[in-house]
Amino acid sequence: MYDVIIIGSGPAGLTAAVYSGRAGLKTLVMAGAVWGGQLMFTTQVENFPGFSDGILGPDLIGKIWRQAEKFGAELIFEDATAVDFLAKPFKIKARDRAYEGRSVIIATGASPKWLSLESEQRLRGRGVSVCAVCDAAFFRDKRAVVVGGGDTALEEALALSKFARDIKVVHRRNKLRASKVLQERAFNEPKIGFIWNTTVTEIIGQDKVEGVRLRNVLSGEESELKCDAVFIAIGHKPNTEIFKGQVEMDEEGFITAYGDTKTSVEGVFVAGEAKDRRYKQAVTAAGEGCKAALDVQRYLAE
Ligand code: NAP
Repeated sequence: MYDVIIIGSGPAGLTAAVYSGRAGLKTLVMAGAVWGGQLMFTTQVENFPGFSDGILGPDLIGKIWRQAEKFGAELIFEDATAVDFLAKPFKIKARDRAYEGRSVIIATGASPKWLSLESEQRLRGRGVSVCAVCDAAFFRDKRAVVVGGGDTALEEALALSKFARDIKVVHRRNKLRASKVLQERAFNEPKIGFIWNTTVTEIIGQDKVEGVRLRNVLSGEESELKCDAVFIAIGHKPNTEIFKGQVEMDEEGFITAYGDTKTSVEGVFVAGEAKDRRYKQAVTAAGEGCKAALDVQRYLAE
């Protein structure tokens, strides 16, 4: 029996583990088979306080992880497959084993969204990717398309510019959502160009990406663009499927938080992108992990 079971191992989950471990609570982190969250797929993080020269995403996660372990948190690399929050103690299943906790912190974060094209799934791993940091090096001197207009899209395009010879960012509007600093960097990179007011309607190719079919949303005009890779960077959706029917959430799956971190179930708390549709930063996730752990301490003491 654990005092607290933390589901998820991004900055929210691991910060919660630092705080609850340090408070002497028996803490289990269900880190997941693919652990560490979105920072594991990021290069340089330049806006996490305390790292004035920046820090690589996986290094930052590694540091918070070691800090959590130092304070006694136990980490397991398994996915939670089902939860039972209807009775106490709360039960969380992972493969064929169930874990029991007096309280739970949901910190499962979010995953990249897809365009929902048949061709996109068929060619995933054959030129279609959601992670330039992971896959850009495969496309040295090739042509790449990045879909999206936010920070992620521009980060992907900039990461690709170290390898690919030509990158086109295809955005459905004529204004980027990305931060000014990334916009400036992308506009100043000669390998990166922009195709505005346009969506990708199909990814062309049988066994590998050969191009994209485009549609101008203003004129309706269709065209084709040859390329070797397509990076989808159109935002994220919360990883909250297993909590459906257990805690309140909105139609998109963001968990409803009362006050800061309380969910609709007493003793179950939430932190980070599983509930946050607004800020979505590593530092805000870490801050929420801290709040959730403090709320757990208060709850267990009452
Ligand atoms: P985002 O800010 O939600 O941007 C998603 C982009 O994809 C938007 O430009 C959106 O277009 C477009 N889009 C959404 N659905 C689409 C569809 N079905 N077809 C075509 N385009 C679509 O997501 P994000 O870029 O992943 O960023 C998420 C959060 O993480 C943000 O808060 C961001 O600041 C943060 N982040 C920060 C950094 C950094 O600081 N270095 C790096 C990465 C992410 P519209 O603009 O028309 O809505």
